[in-house]
Amino acid sequence: MSVTTHALTLDADARTADQVAMFVDGQFVPAAAGATFPTVDPNTGRTIAEVPRADGTDVDRAVAAAKRVAVEWQFTDAIARAALLRNLAALVTEHADELARLEALDSGHYLAKASELMGAIPLWLDYWASLADKVGGRTIEVPGNKLSFTLLEPLGVTAHIVPWNYPLLIMVRSCAPALALGNTCVVKPAEDTSLSALKFAELVKEAGFPDGVFNVVTGFGTEAGASLAAHPDVAGITFTGSTETGKTVAKLAADHVAQVNLELGGKSPTIVFPDADLDDAVEAAVQGFCSHTGQVCVAGTRLFVHADVREQFLQKLTARLEQTQVGDGFADGTQMGPLVSQKQYDRVRDYIEIGKTEGTLHYGGGRPAGAPEGGYFVEPTVFVDVAHDARIAREEIFGPVASVHSWSTEDELVEAVNDSIYGLFAVLLGSDIKKLLSTARRLQVGGVMINDWFGELPMTPHGGHKQSGTGREEGIEAVHGYTQVKHVSVNLDPSLRAGSDWAGAPL
Ligand code: NDP
Repeated sequence: MSVTTHALTLDADARTADQVAMFVDGQFVPAAAGATFPTVDPNTGRTIAEVPRADGTDVDRAVAAAKRVAVEWQFTDAIARAALLRNLAALVTEHADELARLEALDSGHYLAKASELMGAIPLWLDYWASLADKVGGRTIEVPGNKLSFTLLEPLGVTAHIVPWNYPLLIMVRSCAPALALGNTCVVKPAEDTSLSALKFAELVKEAGFPDGVFNVVTGFGTEAGASLAAHPDVAGITFTGSTETGKTVAKLAADHVAQVNLELGGKSPTIVFPDADLDDAVEAAVQGFCSHTGQVCVAGTRLFVHADVREQFLQKLTARLEQTQVGDGFADGTQMGPLVSQKQYDRVRDYIEIGKTEGTLHYGGGRPAGAPEGGYFVEPTVFVDVAHDARIAREEIFGPVASVHSWSTEDELVEAVNDSIYGLFAVLLGSDIKKLLSTARRLQVGGVMINDWFGELPMTPHGGHKQSGTGREEGIEAVHGYTQVKHVSVNLDPSLRAGSDWAGAPL
C-alpha cells in the first residue's frame, strides 16, 4: 500500500486536487482495493480529483485503529486533550484560506461564505477544548453511610457520518465534543464533498493527535457508510443527513446496540406576523430558503405570511430576489452558488415541475441568466396558492424553493405548521413579543429564532423533534451524545456486616 505524507495537493487556479488519500491510523493511504471515484466542481461539472473509495476492509482498519487507542485516549488527561484541540484550532485558522477554497470547490459554497465558515470552525474546537476538563458526573444522596456518585465516561469508538451541505462544520461539530470527552473517531464524509475533511486530517496529524484517534474513510454511503454504521466495535454513531438514511443507520446501529445521534431533515416554517417589519421579514425569508442554495437542514421553505400583509410581502420578496446574484462561487459578488451535484440538480428541477402542477409559480423556476455552462444552477423559486398537503409543501426539497401560505388565526397557523413529519426549526417575525412567545411554545420544533435567522453556534443546542432527529449537537446538551454514565457506590461502614440497615428495593 502506498503511503503519502499529505492528504492532497490543491491547484487552486486549475481547480483540481491531486494525490488524494484517506487518513487511517495516522497515515495517508489509498483504499485497500485501490478503487477511486471522481469528485466534481458543481460550478462547472468538471472533475476536481479522484478520491479513494473505501470498502469494508478499509472501515475495519480504521475502526481497529480507533479501538486500539481508545483506552489510552480516554485516560489521557483532559487538559492534554484540550491542548491538542487548541493546537488544531490554531492550525485551522492558519490554513483557513486553503480549507475555504477546497470547501467552495467541492461543495459549491461561494468563496466568501466558505471563508466565513472556515473562520468560524475554531470556535467549535475551542468551545470543546474549554469543556474537556469541566464535564463530569455528580454525587447522589443515598440512604445509609455510603458515597454514591457517577462518572461520565466516553463511549469508545465513535462514527461520524456527514452530509455534503456543510462538510467541515458538521464534521467538526460532532468530532470536537467526541475527542474532547475522550472518544476516538472514524469519519465518513459525503461522497460529493470529501476534500476539506481530508485536508483537516493533515492538520489533526500536525497538531499532534496520536495515530488512530481520528480517522477519515472516504467512499459511498451504501458501502463505507453502511459498513461503519454496522461495525460491532463502533459504540456511538452521529449521523447527519436525510431522515430516510437516518432510519437505515439507526437500524444498523440497533443490531449492535450503538448509541445514536440523528440530525435529520426538515421542512421549516418562516412565520410572518401582521405587525412584522416586512423588510426584515423578507430578508429572513430569503436567507431562510436561499442560503447555500436552499441546501440547509433548517431551510425556511414554508413561508407562513399573515393574510393582512401577504400582498405587500410578496411584492417586497420579488424585489429582493431580483437582486440576488446567482453564479460561479468564485466570482466577485456571488450570493448564491450552484447545487452540489447533478443528482441534486435533477431532484430540485423535478420538484419545480411538481410545484407547477400543485400551485402557481410566483418567482424563478428556471436557470439563472448567465450562469456558467455545466454548473448546477437554479433560480430562487417561489410558489403561491399551494395547499398544505401538496408535495412541495410537505417534502424536503433541499434547494431554493419555497411555498407561501397565508394564515389568519394563531390556532390555524400552529395546526398547519405542526402538521409535518419534521420538527427541526422555525423563524418568527413580528413585534408583539407575547404573541411570538406564545406561538413559539406551541410549535413542535427543536429550535426557534425570533426576529432573526439561523446562525449556528457551538454553545447553543441544535437538533430536531419528530422525524428531524434525536439527541443534540452543540451546547452542553451534546455531552450526553458522547458519554455514558457509570454509577459508583462506596460503603463507608467499617465492615459490610457491621453496617447500618441496608435500604433500597430488595432485588
Ligand atoms: P444523505 O442521507 O443522503 O447522506 C448523508 C450521509 O450518509 C452521507 O455521508 C452518505 O454517503 C451517507 N449514507 C448514505 N447511505 C448510507 C447508508 N446506507 N449507511 C450509512 N451511511 C449512508 O444526506 P445528504 O448528504 O443528501 O444531506 C442532505 C440531508 O441532510 C438533508 O435531509 C438535510 O436536511 C440533512 N441535514 C441535517 C442537518 C441537521 O443538523 N439536522 C444538517 C445538515 C443536513 P453518500 O454521500 O455516499 O451518499
